[in-house]
Amino acid sequence: MTAKPNNTYPVVIVGGGMAGASLSLALARQGIACAVFEAYAANMPSQPSFDDRTVALSAASLNILRNLGVGDDFMRVAEPIKHIHVSEQSHIGFTRLKAKDHGMEQLGAVVENWQLGKVLHKNIEQQALIDWFAPTKVLQLEQDSDKAQLTIETSDGEVTVEASLVVLADGARSPLRNSLHIESDIRDFGTSAIVCNVATQQAHQGCAYERFTADGPLAMLPLTHNRMALVWSKPNDEVESYLALSEQEFATALENDFGARLGRITKVGKRFTFPLIQQQAETLFRGRCVVIGNAAQSLHPIAGQGFNLGLRDIAYLSQCLAAVEGDDYGAYQVLRDYEHKRHADRSKTVWITESLARLFANSWAPMSISRNLMLKALDIMPVAKDFFAQQAMGFNFQNSKLAANDE
Ligand SMILES: Cc1cc2nc3c(=O)[nH]c(=O)nc-3n(C[C@H](O)[C@H](O)[C@H](O)COP(=O)(O)OP(=O)(O)OC[C@H]3O[C@@H](n4cnc5c(N)ncnc54)[C@H](O)[C@@H]3O)c2cc1C
Repeated sequence: MTAKPNNTYPVVIVGGGMAGASLSLALARQGIACAVFEAYAANMPSQPSFDDRTVALSAASLNILRNLGVGDDFMRVAEPIKHIHVSEQSHIGFTRLKAKDHGMEQLGAVVENWQLGKVLHKNIEQQALIDWFAPTKVLQLEQDSDKAQLTIETSDGEVTVEASLVVLADGARSPLRNSLHIESDIRDFGTSAIVCNVATQQAHQGCAYERFTADGPLAMLPLTHNRMALVWSKPNDEVESYLALSEQEFATALENDFGARLGRITKVGKRFTFPLIQQQAETLFRGRCVVIGNAAQSLHPIAGQGFNLGLRDIAYLSQCLAAVEGDDYGAYQVLRDYEHKRHADRSKTVWITESLARLFANSWAPMSISRNLMLKALDIMPVAKDFFAQQAMGFNFQNSKLAANDE
């Protein structure tokens, strides 16, 4: 951590979680200096972004990480996804994607958030262009036509810092976004995700499972050391009862919903829950402040798109800023151009994710039969399957140069 902030920076990032930390590296790669103010020190167990959850990243996101210079470190702690298996409980229809059928080594990779945090911090420490301040809390944000000014709480008292551009990467609740009067569209799915790691009798062999159950989707993602990361949707009023189950009872309930594809569930790790709420900011910027990551949108994890979309935002924002002549990074034209470039991908990703969450939450019999037919059809139609694979790998979305395969 740098000792004391300068009075002024070209770019200030509020929040050094998954989005803010990744953006700082993307900016450094483009030769742009920034300061990051993060409320928690990297090694604090309560750090909310780099917690025990896992994140599934698409092949396009892996390209972005490689272009940020963290690809090798990342792959050392991540498990490649070689196959995807999608099915619905109590129905025989299913579809499978295999990386090699689409000319790829892997469709993506899964990592624990805290491991991703370690990788990002190791690389940030080596970057002279990043001034990292933690624990520090940004209390207030003001702006005029020339600059933005932040009031920051540090261990030495309050300091003020000026910036041409402020990036809010302070998460879904973001009081600072609210202070800018950026409204958000909020959809509460009435469900929560139960998250934990489990061990299974049979090896996962790099297969990610997405299974639709009467209560909502269940994902079992391949992790290192032959573990699986579970993300299991349940109605809010049932979640507590699942947390209260003994390890054996929980394993049996999970086997009931997941089926016997990997044999018995032999071990269940610590369980956590997260409410599933979709939130989308009405605009990506106001004045000299831009929102990214969960501050811009948080999604239902059904399609594992939240951070993947966030990384595409980061790749674009860093490219837009690299094209600025001079140092007025917060100029209206720059941020309007960024918002315009992100509109299609953002709207499409939010729409697909919300539609999937609603489609697979509907237990009406005709809907269930149609879904099952869809899965069967998808499995035998090469063109549709290729389209689905490209989406899963993140290549059908509008992509920046940083996400392209040949960069
Ligand atoms: C159950 C679950 C599963 C998921 N699975 C996937 C997946 O498989 N694939 C995928 O792509 N995405 C997934 N996601 C989404 C992914 O977790 C989010 O996109 C990601 O965590 C967003 O990170 P962020 O940095 O924007 O926000 P956060 O993680 O909320 O980080 C915000 C940071 O800002 C800091 N902060 C806040 N306020 C201040 C302040 N005033 N001053 C200083 N610092 C501040 C906080 O301390 C924190 O470090 C999943 C989400 C959930 C809930």
